[in-house]
Amino acid sequence: QMIKLNNIIKKFPIGQRELVILQGIDLDIEKGSMVAIMGPSGSGKTTLLNILGCLDVPSSGSYILDGKEVSNLNRHELAKVRGQKIGFIFQTFNLLTHLTALGNVELGLKYGRIDDYSMAKDALEKVGLADRAKHRPMELSGGERQRVAIARAIVKNPPLILADEPTGNLDSNSGKEIMRIIDSLNKDNGITLVIITHDPRISEYCDRTINIMDGKIMKDELR
Ligand code: ADP
Ligand code: MG
Repeated sequence: QMIKLNNIIKKFPIGQRELVILQGIDLDIEKGSMVAIMGPSGSGKTTLLNILGCLDVPSSGSYILDGKEVSNLNRHELAKVRGQKIGFIFQTFNLLTHLTALGNVELGLKYGRIDDYSMAKDALEKVGLADRAKHRPMELSGGERQRVAIARAIVKNPPLILADEPTGNLDSNSGKEIMRIIDSLNKDNGITLVIITHDPRISEYCDRTINIMDGKIMKDELR
C-alpha cells in the first residue's frame, strides 16, 4: 500500500468557529496505481492533496505513507518525507522565473538532498526538453513549462507523484501531450499517481476514480 488514510478529519479555524473541510476520509491507494480525484470546486480536493503530499497535517486521523505514519510529524520531518518520496505537479507549473529549465529541475534534486546534478539533465531528456535546458520559463510554451515541472517532480525518482489539475491551464493538445507523459510515468516507471482533475478525459487514463463532495468520499470506482 502506498497510501493508507484512516478517518482523516481536517478543520480550519474561521474566527471563533471551526470549518470542517474533510469529514472522515478513509482511503487506501495501492502501489503502482493511477487514481483520479474528482469533485466540485470547494469540496476539499486540494486540502486532501496537501495532506497526502505532507504539505499539511490532518486535525485527526491516521496517514500511513509507504508504511510510515506521517500524520503527527513536525514541519522538518514532513519536508524530509516530501523530499524522499513525493513529486508535485501543479496547475500553474510553479516554476521559478529567474531560473532556467535546468535550474528549476535541479531544485527538485535539492529538495531530495541529492547532489548528482547530471540527473537533472536526464530528467529533462525524459520529458523531451533537453534542447530547452537553458531557456527560462518565459521563453517556453505552457506545455513546455509543465514538462519542466514534470522533470522537476521525477528527478529524484520518487515513488509517488501528486498532481493538482495538471492540464487545467493548457490547451487541449498540450494537455494530451502532458497526459501521455504522466501516463508513461505510471505505466513504464511504476510511479504511483494521484491526480486531481475536473476533466473526464483525464480520469479515463486512470484505473480508479474517486469522487469527493463536501469533504466526504461519495463514489469510488474501478475501471
Ligand atoms: P477544492 O480543491 O476541492 O476546490 P479546497 O480543498 O481548496 O477545495 O477547499 C475546500 C474548502 O476549504 C473551501 O471552502 C475553502 O475555502 C476551505 N479552505 C481551504 N483552505 C483553507 C484554509 N487554509 N483556511 C480556511 N479555509 C480553507
Ligand atoms: Mg483545488
